[in-house]
Amino acid sequence: MTSVLVTGGAGYIGSHTCMALAANGMTPIVFDNLFRGHADFVRWGPLIVGDILDQAALNDTFARYRPDAVIHFAALAYVGESFSNPMTYYKNNVSGLVNIIEAMVKNGTQNIILSSSCTIYGIPDTVPIPENAPQRPISPYGRSKLFCEQILKDAAASNDLNFVIFRYFNASGADASGDLSERHDPETHLVPLAIDAATNEGPALPIFGSDYATTDGTCERDFIHVSDLASAHVEAISYLSKNANIALNLGTGRAHSVLQVVSAVERVTGRPVPLTWGPRRPGDPPILFSDPTLAQRLLRFRPKYSDLETIIETAWRSRRGQG
Ligand code: UDP
Repeated sequence: MTSVLVTGGAGYIGSHTCMALAANGMTPIVFDNLFRGHADFVRWGPLIVGDILDQAALNDTFARYRPDAVIHFAALAYVGESFSNPMTYYKNNVSGLVNIIEAMVKNGTQNIILSSSCTIYGIPDTVPIPENAPQRPISPYGRSKLFCEQILKDAAASNDLNFVIFRYFNASGADASGDLSERHDPETHLVPLAIDAATNEGPALPIFGSDYATTDGTCERDFIHVSDLASAHVEAISYLSKNANIALNLGTGRAHSVLQVVSAVERVTGRPVPLTWGPRRPGDPPILFSDPTLAQRLLRFRPKYSDLETIIETAWRSRRGQG
């Protein structure tokens, strides 16, 4: 049986991935400091409460469980926060990865999947964005992810490491059974905030900018269902040991505007979403959507749940159940 050390496995994408690994006969071993993760999301294997900045705790975990592969989600991931706290972002995201690579090399684990982000592209010259587009991140968060990619490539060139890097577009939705949900604290993401505004569990939704050169003046994003992201990680585990190291976009290849998301939330919930109009948010490119053809070809990546209605329906269902 394949055992996979999942750092950040108590988080949103991490917990959905653990669920998918277990459904495919693998054992996820979660390593998470529970700073922003949730112990009740860890249901498919052991939870080690530890910090990726603690090299000794990492080494102990590798020595104890001898994982066949690592999926490294643990990171700080708020663009806005990264502007006010850049050193914390670099320490956690960059030093944390270095620690993990050192523990892998020391303990003979060769396979790693790294969570990266479309933020490494910054403001793209053209859309859809292929993997070889210029990499010019415009936030400390995006730069921390680009450094991580480069560090992993250097490490693989000098050690026996295999990697898949995933550049996520906008992860959204929740497991269709309602067992897991998107639960961030603080919550900054569009879909849960729009649902909370519709149900009056949160304030009116602020729209960050209405004067972008897009279809309706609001930003456009490529929303990809979290369960489709999880499936890609399962595919990547079998891809890893047999193929060349690679960085892949995970998105749908389509964009929806902020206002289109708001309309979908209104349709699905049957309630209006109260809005306030505000200025642009720093670090937000006007339009981002992926060219996903490489992941489609190499990993048979075929999103099943990523149409906007299904994303909002599953998010809405899980928000009501608070899975
Ligand atoms: N957004 C918004 N109001 C909010 C949260 C987000 O208008 O309260 C917009 C944001 O400016 C971006 C899009 O929704 O254009 C998606 O933002 P989110 O934070 O969900 O994901 P990101 O694109 O930052 O990864």
